[in-house]
Amino acid sequence: MYIVQIASECAPVIKAGGLGDVVYGLSRELESRGHAVELILPMYDCMRYDHIWGLHDAYRDLWVPWFGGQIHCSVYCGWVHGRVCFFIEPHSGDNFFNRGCYYGCNDDNMRFAFFSKAALEFLLKSNKRPDIIHCHDWQTGLVPVMLFENYKYEMGNQRVCYTIHNFKHQGMGGSEILWATGLNQESYYFQYDRLRDNFNPFALNFMKGGIVYSNYVTTVSPHHAWEAHHGEFGYGLGHTLHLYQSKFRGILNGIDNDFWNPETDRYIPYKYTKENLEGKAKNKKALRDRLLLRDADKPIVAYIGRLDDQKGVHLVHHAIYHTLARGGQFVLLGSATEAGINAHFRHEKQFLNDNPDVHLELGFNEELSHLIYAGADTIVVPSNYEPCGLTQMIGLKYGTVPIVRGVGGLVNTVFDRDYDSDRLPEQRNGYVFQEADYSALESTMNRAFDLWYQEPEEFRQLVLQGMSYDYSWNYPGKEYLEIYELIRHK
Ligand code: ADP
Repeated sequence: MYIVQIASECAPVIKAGGLGDVVYGLSRELESRGHAVELILPMYDCMRYDHIWGLHDAYRDLWVPWFGGQIHCSVYCGWVHGRVCFFIEPHSGDNFFNRGCYYGCNDDNMRFAFFSKAALEFLLKSNKRPDIIHCHDWQTGLVPVMLFENYKYEMGNQRVCYTIHNFKHQGMGGSEILWATGLNQESYYFQYDRLRDNFNPFALNFMKGGIVYSNYVTTVSPHHAWEAHHGEFGYGLGHTLHLYQSKFRGILNGIDNDFWNPETDRYIPYKYTKENLEGKAKNKKALRDRLLLRDADKPIVAYIGRLDDQKGVHLVHHAIYHTLARGGQFVLLGSATEAGINAHFRHEKQFLNDNPDVHLELGFNEELSHLIYAGADTIVVPSNYEPCGLTQMIGLKYGTVPIVRGVGGLVNTVFDRDYDSDRLPEQRNGYVFQEADYSALESTMNRAFDLWYQEPEEFRQLVLQGMSYDYSWNYPGKEYLEIYELIRHK
């Protein structure tokens, strides 16, 4: 099959979170199964150019219709760790992708509506006719809408799979989106069975468009599919999912075995396997040296992730102090986009600056994240909601025991050592708590601390059980291919 992925991220060249990992990892898996995969991405000024090999002109003069005029774009092609990527660079005063950031601008809806339009225009003009177009999240929700409304005569045989990584961000806009993209026809699109938002009658909803128009819709874990459909985590799209339930399901994300593998990881000084964990102890020492933590017989608890409401920041904050109270060490690597949360953690960092048992690293640092996964003993993921969550799966792979809240994909991947009655003791791999409050977090962390301090052999056994899980792309890759096959013949 010939598959084109259209996305706003692809790790490691463009990565703000899990979306980047998934786009890269799934593409690699599909290729390793013999399919042809290409990616279309925005050409951001701030992406990691050092991860692109052989960047060259692929299509010099791409004119993209926009607001009745046209925007001149160049398309570059390069390899990102073996994946063929096309980067779209618009030349206009809007400076869509020269903002020094991937997201967070006031006109994000226009930026990504333009990107979606430009990606389709590129496929059209360069005569690429993939069997499957796979797009991701709100940023590319308009791709199937435009494809099936405006490009259906030239590209009527293409099929779209749309994956939702986070329902909270849906992409909203008014009629200007219609005039800009050439969809026009206000009264047609402002219908509830098309793009009109389910709650704001004056807004068009990109993600809703993606659900309505795509041939198949997935989200990133089976449990989150249920939560989004039946619970509050669909953020207003539950009814739409209900209407389209026959083409909606959850597929657990995988993690890329080449990128996340303690046996081969080039960012960690000591490689290790589950047969020989010596390297893990050495990485713990290297992590302490790097972050100037004291060398003592203490467990290291880590948090790696965005610092925002979704991730349960109040519990992250509490986990730091509870770890210190229990004589452990805490390492945090996170970045906040919201000013209030950012200020809070900056203050904490200053306050804890001289404490030899804690390090807060505020920012995004891919290399350091690998060393933390390898050097820490446990990783906390106290999310309010978590569509899939990669950090717990990476933690498992690196022998770092996850302590998680039982929501979304965390339910599908972490099984409580003491209480998971659905699994045999030897199949359990971490700790799970339900309520989003301090006492639930504390008592669960206490169970992990007690095991680490009092029964080190048992803790080691738990580490090994976690490392035995296979959360690679092998199985999810197969599931996506089944979906592609299904929609290709419809
Ligand atoms: P998200 O909700 O952000 O997608 P996931 O758990 O699905 O969360 O994926 C997070 C990915 O981003 C993981 O690969 C994690 O290691 C990485 N990550 C998150 N924050 C940082 C950071 N500050 N520095 C480096 N990597 C990070």
